[in-house]
Amino acid sequence: MRIARFSIDGNVAFGAVEGDSPDSLVLDIIKGIPYADFELSGTKVPLNKVRLLPPVLPNKVVAIGRNYAEHAAEMGNEVPDVPVAFFKPTTSVIGAGDSIEYPSFSEELHHEAELAVVIGRMCREVPRERVKDVIFGYTCANDVTARDVQRRESQWARAKGFDTSCPLGPWVETGIDPGNLAIQATVNGEQRQLGRTSDMIRSVEDLVVHITEAMTLLPGDVILTGTPAGVGPLHVGDEVAVTIEGIGTLTNKVIKRG
Ligand code: MG
Repeated sequence: MRIARFSIDGNVAFGAVEGDSPDSLVLDIIKGIPYADFELSGTKVPLNKVRLLPPVLPNKVVAIGRNYAEHAAEMGNEVPDVPVAFFKPTTSVIGAGDSIEYPSFSEELHHEAELAVVIGRMCREVPRERVKDVIFGYTCANDVTARDVQRRESQWARAKGFDTSCPLGPWVETGIDPGNLAIQATVNGEQRQLGRTSDMIRSVEDLVVHITEAMTLLPGDVILTGTPAGVGPLHVGDEVAVTIEGIGTLTNKVIKRG
């Protein structure tokens, strides 16, 4: 099931996305909270009549760096012995169709297409065999990065944590195996990144075990699983799209911060 979060007439709601043709999708409004028990109301609205919001409001976004060998190599890095983990703040999260604001302190903004894991239940020290029980679903993410700032500053809080640097969406797919999905990024329709989640050095299971060894994850928390090779520049006016097989396409435009 694909679950979107959206606003209509000033109200925020969750809905199940129905239909196959991008132009005729409808949302069946959900009664209750998607992570817990919920029902479909049967009240339907066309998706093109609503504004999509980030599909979840995470308490935290935990991101993993250098999880595809070819991307580590293109950045001149070794594959790390232990996964590199960092946070993106909740204020960095935007939804499909929202604008990425080019920050004033960077001259080298990059896209990073990533599979995002959405957590469904509060969990800590999750054993490998229980990982599937704590995952709600998957969505597309763009770990937008000020690459020049990342090189200059030893911690990545500013380079990867500025406002609008974490597009998520367009919705959460709850019924998919994340093990071998095509993942790509295009800029203005031109392909930049193309990889498969099977090339991840650490699997989704590995990452949930590793992160929850240290911290409690809450419903709605998000894990970004790293980006395949082919990262590259974004400029004001560009339209960047992240597509993951079986999930959908997350599109955002880059604007100058006003
Ligand atoms: Mg990344």
